[in-house]
Amino acid sequence: MVNIEAYHQLKAAISTQNVHLVAVSKFKTVNDIQLLYNEGQRDFGENYVQELVEKQALLPNDIRWHFIGHLQSNKVKYIAPFIYLIQGVDSLKLLKEIQKQAVKNNRTIQVLLQVHIAMEETKFGLNEEELHECFNWLASTPDLHIKVVGLMGMASFSEDQNQVANEMKHLRVLYDNHYAKFEKLDGTATPVLSMGMSGDYPLAMEQGSNMIRVGSLLFGAR
Ligand SMILES: *Cc1c(COP(=O)(O)O)cnc(C)c1O
Repeated sequence: MVNIEAYHQLKAAISTQNVHLVAVSKFKTVNDIQLLYNEGQRDFGENYVQELVEKQALLPNDIRWHFIGHLQSNKVKYIAPFIYLIQGVDSLKLLKEIQKQAVKNNRTIQVLLQVHIAMEETKFGLNEEELHECFNWLASTPDLHIKVVGLMGMASFSEDQNQVANEMKHLRVLYDNHYAKFEKLDGTATPVLSMGMSGDYPLAMEQGSNMIRVGSLLFGAR
């Protein structure tokens, strides 16, 4: 069930801090998304290509769709025509495919590079060497149809707040170090540092996040 009250509380809490809210709607119905849309929300995040494509066709055109999951290169073509921001670019191979599909669709696609910051092996993301490979490729590719507008990361699911804060700090340092390489996200004044979910967004904002991806707090448990 959509928690409209939690939505407005969260909006109020972030309104003074220049933080963008992406409402994560994976596994939630078109109806639920529409309810939040009616309250003014325009940025929604999805993790699965087929689910996203089906929902996108049924919902208003002015929704800004964020792809926040692990994206397989062979599926980029399905979202390339409309995606607003691909968060979580976690390989050079994927970056190259996004470039190819962006050219085909005659548009520029905005992306975040996802950095692996958690202890867990299972979370996707670039290590620092791969991050540099991506920057090198971007700098040497002509006719680029990709706009790198910042970084994204997921901290460990851990009770240890120090651990989580340190992982977030690490991402913040990388963001600061590479700041000059980022372009601005359409309609905003600064590049994006996307970190923080339902369980850790206050901590993420303390560590400098300017985009939080919140699901269960708004839509209920999945
Ligand atoms: C599911 C998901 C979220 C939202 O998680 P909640 O804990 O429900 O807020 C945020 N980011 C990513 C990458 C996700 O996959």
